[in-house]
Amino acid sequence: MTTTDHILLLGGTFEARRLAERLTGMFPAARLTVSFAGVVKDLPDLGVPTRTGGFGGAGGLADFLTRENVTLVVDATHPFAAQMSRNATRACAAAKCPLIRLERPAWHAVGGDRWHLVSSIDDAVTVLPAASRVFLALGRKEISRFYIRDDIYGLARMIEPPLQPLPAHWDLVLARPPQSLDAEIALFRAHGISQVVTKNSGGQRAYAKIEAARRLELPVIVIDRPKLPDAETATSIPELLEKTRLLLGQTGT
Ligand code: NAP
Repeated sequence: MTTTDHILLLGGTFEARRLAERLTGMFPAARLTVSFAGVVKDLPDLGVPTRTGGFGGAGGLADFLTRENVTLVVDATHPFAAQMSRNATRACAAAKCPLIRLERPAWHAVGGDRWHLVSSIDDAVTVLPAASRVFLALGRKEISRFYIRDDIYGLARMIEPPLQPLPAHWDLVLARPPQSLDAEIALFRAHGISQVVTKNSGGQRAYAKIEAARRLELPVIVIDRPKLPDAETATSIPELLEKTRLLLGQTGT
């Protein structure tokens, strides 16, 4: 590793925050820049240089990599932030910059789960049974796709308020993960939930709703992950740090 190493960490997830700390500790001589989309206003102070906002597509990112002498891109965006991950793959190829993607393992159904797998949000909208009382764990940009279902009740949970207000008879919970199993069970019971809709985000922090649905024997519509281009991947923070160490050629601490 050289003192001129510059790691660009594409963030927006809990893992990215953890990685910002770990990369700084492990590679103190390297420059680290964390990049946020700027979707969430309440950004954490990571104590490292950050930049906010899009790069202007794959071309804009490739220019950034060259201009800022980036020597490694770590893509720690959410598994459903597919556009950013696709752009990162293309930009890194164009700028001949190494890329490691952190891919948290997807959830898989276990005994007692009543999953209905769908491949898109619009499919989830379509397959919801008539007059369902639905818990929707979706983002502020995505939730409005369900508004055409005026026969359903929605309990929507997200981090910041939806871009388009919810239908008047729906309810909104603003919260970040994690939630406890007991809290999820209580929430579903309090609102008479009959269906759960979730993206297959994976990881532990957002898993309690899946367990709660299992306990309450509720059907869960699980939206499959978007397909991403091939890239060097790590499935955990330790694996990613080890791959970074090998790539940057440092012993690490
Ligand atoms: P997306 O659809 O893949 O990205 C849309 C555009 O936003 C990208 O093309 C890029 O703009 C910009 N962008 C995304 N992530 C960025 C980053 N880390 N730094 C700079 N620009 C970024 O992403 P999204 O689904 O809107 O998600 C936005 C952010 O929220 C991501 O960082 C993601 O990690 C986080 N997040 C997403 C979800 C989800 O379910 N989608 C859940 C939790 C967190 P340009 O093309 O102009 O560069």
